[in-house]
Amino acid sequence: MRKALLDCDLNELEEVVASMGQPAFRAGQLYKWLLSGADFSEMTNLPLSFRNKLSQNYVARALKIEQTYPSKDGSMKLLYRYTDGNLIEGVYMPHGYGDTLCVSTQVGCRMGCAFCASGIGGLVRNLTAGEIAAQVIAVNKLLGGNHGKKLSNLVLMGSGEPLDNYENVTKFIRLMTAEDGLNFSSRGISLSTSGIVENIRKLADDGFSVTLSLSLHATTDDARQALMPVARKYTLHETIEAMKYYFKKTGRRVIYEYALIKGQNMSTFDVKRLVAITKGYPCHVNLIKLNYVEEKGLEGCSEQEAKRFLQRLTEAGVSATIRRSFGNDVGGACGQLRRRYEQNG
Ligand code: SAH
Ligand code: SF4
Repeated sequence: MRKALLDCDLNELEEVVASMGQPAFRAGQLYKWLLSGADFSEMTNLPLSFRNKLSQNYVARALKIEQTYPSKDGSMKLLYRYTDGNLIEGVYMPHGYGDTLCVSTQVGCRMGCAFCASGIGGLVRNLTAGEIAAQVIAVNKLLGGNHGKKLSNLVLMGSGEPLDNYENVTKFIRLMTAEDGLNFSSRGISLSTSGIVENIRKLADDGFSVTLSLSLHATTDDARQALMPVARKYTLHETIEAMKYYFKKTGRRVIYEYALIKGQNMSTFDVKRLVAITKGYPCHVNLIKLNYVEEKGLEGCSEQEAKRFLQRLTEAGVSATIRRSFGNDVGGACGQLRRRYEQNG
């Protein structure tokens, strides 16, 4: 399989360019073209022989948009096809404060959470930094944006566990925030993790300051273990300590995602324990009404029950909101993204 050329950052592109006997300034030209979503045939200010040489070893576009599914709410689910044939999904969401793309970091996921469609079938493979970037670049181009300016926010909340693919995901974030590149702000990038503790700490130590969300979903170790296998490896206590560490290192308020599951995590005790978990440092709880996933069978709650739970949290002094859900009618809501197969895609 040919490698995505955008797996190279600008420095590495300079090496590639030099190895093909081209002057250094070609790297900058190439970088611009790649970020704009152009294929080699469109890079008309580069010598044809150089483009041919590049295309023997690399692809300029790691994926193509196979299909789009517009939702009634203005969002849009997208089906991408990578050059090796793998099909994955993404979601575009228009927001008042800027357009957001929900980005996938792996084909499948090996974390096996009890409520999520992305993990069905396990992990197929990691996406490389250039392959993840290809989602942003392709959607941006589709929207008619130029050099990343159409999209202003990225949420790493599609299929995959970002911190289970640390090197590629952090390289992707560096590429997205590069000033000479797409120039996304760190604040405009949210990373959601099921809670791989050492990599939460590493992210802070490595100097990243993206908005960090933890998929909490339960308030005791037992309850969390029943929903998320990752909780068998890390206790709630050490997970929350890692989130506090992230705040201390970055100064960024952290987010807890809490999917409301009927009869499982909405008791008075849960409210009390959420108060304890969130006390004493800047954080926010995002309540999500669980989206139905056929194979999983867990049920969400009604709008009214969600509002009541929110009220109880707010009265107890917890900063919380109910997250607006996008793309329900096209299978594009949280936890509904899945790997597609040729037969039923
Ligand atoms: N792997 C990462 C990011 C992708 S999932 C993580 O788990 O955090 C993005 C968010 O959707 C997570 O908070 C996840 O717990 C949540 N989610 C998964 N399945 C869901 C469902 N059926 N309904 C609502 N939220 C769900
Ligand atoms: Fe993976 Fe996140 Fe889905 Fe869990 S919720 S299976 S970690 S994508």
